Amino acid sequence: MIFDPLEINYSKIKAYLDCPFLYRYIYVERKFAPQTPFSSLGLSVHRALARYHAAGKDLSDLLAHYEDAWLNYGYSTAQESMEFYNRGAGVLENWWLYSQNNRAETIYSEKKFEFPFGKWRVKGTIDRVDRLGAGLVELIDYKMGFEGKTSKDVSSSLQLSMYAIGLSRALNLKVGAIAYFVLSGPEKISVPYDPSTEEATLGLVGGPAEKMLALDMSRKGECSRCPTRKFCPESLARES
Ligand code: SF4
Repeated sequence: MIFDPLEINYSKIKAYLDCPFLYRYIYVERKFAPQTPFSSLGLSVHRALARYHAAGKDLSDLLAHYEDAWLNYGYSTAQESMEFYNRGAGVLENWWLYSQNNRAETIYSEKKFEFPFGKWRVKGTIDRVDRLGAGLVELIDYKMGFEGKTSKDVSSSLQLSMYAIGLSRALNLKVGAIAYFVLSGPEKISVPYDPSTEEATLGLVGGPAEKMLALDMSRKGECSRCPTRKFCPESLARES
């Protein structure tokens, strides 16, 4: 895919906020950050859920989608791969049982949006949208839950706020709530959405977007925690 500096999405902004060199590495130079066991498992589970939402009825469908969607990247041994595979299967089984006891009307999964913002186009893909009452919808992002999540994380999430604007501007939907579905719980952490925060959210997008466009590389992130630290020429932690 050709790099388009005027197309922005949450992942690009997050990469830039983490480290401008990470953004340049992944999106400008088109080099890919290596998968870790946790990122690889997260991708496999997301792919399985997306396929299940599109075409699935019961637990056996979900586990069959998981088997098909499994990405065997980032694992150092076959045993490690098998341990993570089983862990993902357990997470999906628990999610399915939770869903049976907490019925929801899902109207979209893996829903793409795009809206203009100044000179940019903001794009994204939303894991799931459920119908609430009174003409409102709930925007849901699946998280594996390797790091704990709180309602404060939800209400302060730039990703969810950007996606809420996407639902409103691109799909003309009224967002009543935003949520992380923490799969390892399983637990849905949902908070009411306040549309009056839109301008503030776009302000948080516009600042880094201008710097990304100018390729402002005047700072570095935390190399010791960076997924590209072994490959990045700017790394201060190549040996760790
Ligand atoms: S290794 Fe350091 S400089 Fe390189 S992308 Fe990561 S955080 Fe930035």
